Amino acid sequence: MTEKVIPLADHRYANQVPVIPERLEAPTGRLADAFARPLRDLRISVTDRCNFRCVYCMPKEVFDSSYTFLPQSSLLSFEEITRIAAIAVSHGVEKIRLTGGEPLLRKHVETLIASLSALRTPQGKPLDLTLTTNGSLLRKKAQALRDAGLRRVTVSLDALDDAVFKRMNDVDFSVEQVLDGIEAAHEAGLGPIKVNMVVKRGWNDDQILPMARYFRNTPFVLRFIEYMDVGSSNGWRMDEVIPSAEVIRRIGAEMPLEKAAPTAVGETAERWRYRDGSGEVGVISSVTQAFCGDCNRARLSTEGKLYTCLFATGGHDLRALLRGGRSDEEIATVLAHIWRARDDRYSALRTSQTADLQRPLRKVEMSYIGG
Ligand code: SF4
Repeated sequence: MTEKVIPLADHRYANQVPVIPERLEAPTGRLADAFARPLRDLRISVTDRCNFRCVYCMPKEVFDSSYTFLPQSSLLSFEEITRIAAIAVSHGVEKIRLTGGEPLLRKHVETLIASLSALRTPQGKPLDLTLTTNGSLLRKKAQALRDAGLRRVTVSLDALDDAVFKRMNDVDFSVEQVLDGIEAAHEAGLGPIKVNMVVKRGWNDDQILPMARYFRNTPFVLRFIEYMDVGSSNGWRMDEVIPSAEVIRRIGAEMPLEKAAPTAVGETAERWRYRDGSGEVGVISSVTQAFCGDCNRARLSTEGKLYTCLFATGGHDLRALLRGGRSDEEIATVLAHIWRARDDRYSALRTSQTADLQRPLRKVEMSYIGG
């Protein structure tokens, strides 16, 4: 049998095994990168597998039955993930989001959540521990996740119309099951629950208003995400992006909106409130309005590479350090050096880079690095 090339495997991306600096340093919780951005948010991909084949993320033509996912031995173990997370927290990380792939497909993920929920910031505060899911397993797992210490979840849902949703997820999964998963998460006490909708022109933009109507007057916050050029397999085109300004215009024409203040520095969503007090929506304008200026996020891939930008072309191989017997102090020093050198601002530079078709960047896939 001929196997498909694995676009996620190491040889396709530049990966660096970090060199251990001669002088080791203790974390201070006050790391800053080349643009004075702190490290506050760590997104951890716990699996590269997903049970959906969303057209913008894991299209079936690439991720089909002959596609080879990472072997179990490549994945970071829960102990390894917790160790890296603890080091990142000592450097100032306050928020951890588990992603994938679909994170609930990772066996016993609640065991990992229990370990992560025991971590404390240098000020003694618990972490903002959350998870992004397609919702398919929430009915089954919500209570166990809450019991393990998860605080909230973000659920992806790209349409309210079943036919449109099934065309987006490409595996015949129904809207009803996702809505039931959201209810289960709410009943289990996970909250606030955010619902993310990626908007792709011509695919699901007719769902903007039905989604807004449905989630208005509920405890759930709906957020619209501009379709992004993450990875190299989704054939992204700028004319398929619906700018957030257009989303707000369309909703506002029927349900008047006003801008609301951000709740935190580095927040990716811009908040808009319904004028009649019936809730709020968010827009994530990753294409039309870069938010690199405040970006405080690092990403740990399924197999332990650290990426300092969602659009990175290469990662830093922390797994090699973990499995090479390096101490926490050595790894913490490496992390400090990586973050200080960070000058990523891909979205801000997107126009010039994506226009340069002679030198297309091979970006890492979202299912590997986490969204
Ligand atoms: S493009 Fe990179 S640096 Fe800019 S906001 Fe996104 S992840 Fe952060």
